[in-house]
Amino acid sequence: MSCDLIKLAQPGVQALHPYQPGKPIEELERELGLKNIVKLASNENPLGPSQIALDAIARASRSLTLYPDGNGFVLKKALSEALQVSPSQITLGNGSNDVLELITRAYAGPGDEIVFSQYAFAVYALSCTAVGATPVQTLAKDWGHDLDAMLAVLSERTRLVFIANPNNPTGTWLGKSEIERFLQTVPENVLVVLDEAYGEYIDHPDYPDALQYLAQYPNLILTRTFSKAWGLASLRVGYAVSHPDVANILNRVRQPFNVNALALAAASAVLQDVDYLARSRSVNTQGLAQLEQGFAALGLDFIPSLGNFISFDTGRNGQDVYQALLREGVIVRPLGPYGMPAHLRVSVGLPQENARFLEALAKVL
Ligand SMILES: *Cc1c(COP(=O)(O)O)cnc(C)c1O
Repeated sequence: MSCDLIKLAQPGVQALHPYQPGKPIEELERELGLKNIVKLASNENPLGPSQIALDAIARASRSLTLYPDGNGFVLKKALSEALQVSPSQITLGNGSNDVLELITRAYAGPGDEIVFSQYAFAVYALSCTAVGATPVQTLAKDWGHDLDAMLAVLSERTRLVFIANPNNPTGTWLGKSEIERFLQTVPENVLVVLDEAYGEYIDHPDYPDALQYLAQYPNLILTRTFSKAWGLASLRVGYAVSHPDVANILNRVRQPFNVNALALAAASAVLQDVDYLARSRSVNTQGLAQLEQGFAALGLDFIPSLGNFISFDTGRNGQDVYQALLREGVIVRPLGPYGMPAHLRVSVGLPQENARFLEALAKVL
């Protein structure tokens, strides 16, 4: 063939490397013929889905022949009540990943700059590169975002800043005064995306309630998801809360039916399941403590985390430890692609899953 179909793609798209997800359980079963595999690789909720969500899906499935409500009226109403914001401030997405991409596509293109930190969630770099914008990555401080460094690189070309609070894969987070000072200093024509994918887990007195900043900072966009604490990762549903004008713009670039009917129904229903959220939080808090104790017992450094995962320093080649853990039937996440070659990230599981992981880790080290 004389025509290079790779070279025909947009330059930004040619520069992309596909996102590497956690290894699926079935794949490891096929490769190694193992059973009883524990997957702690994708920050999934170990509780299984809420019964209230399952019942809502069963009801909604009777209408699968119909397109979903493209405006997501019921879910936006439920969210607006839960969060005390107007439905006009909410943008729904096929996971918050979709929302992050909508923001990038709507507000940045070739010649524009997007600022994010070293070790930040991989989707920021992916969506930036895909639209041909220029990534401006600042060095991390103690594995976390260095907001002063981020302020220092803002330029006339900066359109967006992505901040994950807490960040995945490091689990590092920013407190109220740091976020407030940042918002006060950023020019109002630079949009600040505060990604709170793990926000529902957190009950620390210094973790900011960022919703209250929206009135004062119209350039602030919060993103959240039903994938983590709400346990609906497979359904793909997340949202942004922003100024209504930003929501209006995002609404123009999204697909007409970007969130499916089962996801809309389950997400609307699960918001009522306060017991499920409480269990998610307590299993996570206990699991983080269990893992931290396990790392300390093994003499391993870890990065303190407020997410549903924790990253630790294997003190050697993390990829080798990852492979050895696979042979023990435990899937975690290697962080070489994030430039942390000695670290692995493990998601918080049920107590027995965490214990299986710690035993396997002790064995392979
Ligand atoms: C998991 C995660 C998301 C996106 O999850 P969705 O399933 O697309 O909603 C966004 N940001 C961070 C930091 C995450 O870890």
